[in-house]
Parts: sequence; structure tokens; C-alpha cells
Amino acid sequence: MKNSSWIAIDGDSGSGKTTIGKLLARKIGFEFIDSGLLYRAATYAIIAHKENKDRKSWVDIIKNSSFDIRQNTVFIDKKGFSQDELHTKEIDDLVSSVSTVKDIRAIITKILRNIADGKNVVMAGRDIGSVVLKEAFLKIYITATLRVRAERRYKELINKGNIITFDEVLRNLKKRDTIDSSRSVSPLIIPEDAYVIDTSTLSPERVIEKIIQFIKGREYDLRSTTCTF
Ligand code: C5P
Repeated sequence: MKNSSWIAIDGDSGSGKTTIGKLLARKIGFEFIDSGLLYRAATYAIIAHKENKDRKSWVDIIKNSSFDIRQNTVFIDKKGFSQDELHTKEIDDLVSSVSTVKDIRAIITKILRNIADGKNVVMAGRDIGSVVLKEAFLKIYITATLRVRAERRYKELINKGNIITFDEVLRNLKKRDTIDSSRSVSPLIIPEDAYVIDTSTLSPERVIEKIIQFIKGREYDLRSTTCTF
């Protein structure tokens, strides 16, 4: 891959990594890529096929579909999907199972690497610092208590008009945490060289300040980017 500047942000569901990643990328003039959207797009494609019975057929569906992300719009077979269309309860319920499949991970990892190649990117996900962009010059692991994460996700879903209870959201997050961190392929881990930030009681702005300090600590020259601070 071409030499570039990559920042990897990993963390569990609802930890705030997408909000932080977007704000950070805007501030330092990097492109933001939410890798979870591709796993959600893969899940959407599987649900859309009626014959999605077993994991073997899941892999075939993904192999026969095309996926891309541009400006945070995801394209499945060249058709654009908004982030909201991929944050449904149905997708929430299946996405972690789809993400355990090795061949599906391999396809998505390749797409993500191609997207990041030669660019300055902030990429958020579960295995970015440990697998996808192992060479990232800065790795951040974002976490928050389960309750705080569930409250954030619940508010988000309700504001978007979903009919769901807080307990359902809590159960879904717990289930996804368990599957994501116990799967055999690329489980969610804290990369050895990552900075861990607990966002339970921190505002997004405070988290960004911390990350900017880490960037400066790495002696990365932000003047060469379009940084706005
Ligand atoms: O980040 P988000 O919650 O949208 O991700 C949805 C799901 O996609 C996660 O629960 C996880 O199962 C999967 N995922 C993954 N690896 C990534 C990003 C997301 O396994 N890099």
C-alpha cells in the first residue's frame, strides 16, 4: 500500500467512535471512513436475498455484490444508501453474525485497504488498528460503560423514529459486544500500541482535544494538513 497517514479508531458498539472519528477527520482535514457501514451493507445485501439460509450462501451473496463508500454514502451494486438506511433494528440484529464469517471479513478488509490506500484517513471500526490498517501512525481505542452506550444508542434510534425499548437496545449491545470480542477471526481487541479513552463522562470536544495531543506527541506535522485549530 502507498505511504499515507492513517488514524485507527476502534471501540465497542455505541462507544462514540463514529462521532469522534467524524469530528476529528473534519478538524485535521482527513477523510473519515466508518468501516461498520460496510458490514451493515453486507448484512443488508444478505437480508435482501430471500435464499439467505446458511453462511455459505451469505459468502456467495457478498462475492456477487459490489460495495463501496464515498463521502459516507455506501454503495451496494452501485446503488447509494444513507447511513440511516443501514442503522435499522433488523440489521443491528444480524450484523455481528455476518461479521464473524472469515471470507466476508477478507472481502471487506480488502475494500477498506483499497479505500485508504494513498490517502490521509481516520477509519473507525473493530479491527482497524489490529488488522485493516495495522501500520496506522496513531491508534485509539474508545470505550464507555454499557449503560452510557445503550442510552446514546437508544436516543439515536428514538430520534430517528424507531419503536424500540431501552432494554431491547441494551440487550442488542450486550449481544454484539460478546460476538464481536469472542469471534475467532479479527475479534475486537485493544491493539497493544493504542491509547484508550473512556468517553462515559467526556464531551466529544474533550475527546478530540486529547487525540490532538496524542497526534502532536507523535510529532506528526499537522501543518501539512488543513487542520482548523
Ligand atoms: O460500528 P457499527 O456498530 O456500525 O458496526 C456494526 C457491526 O459491524 C459491529 O457490531 C461488528 O459486528 C461489525 N464490524 C466489524 N469490524 C469492523 C466494523 C464493524 O466486525 N471493522
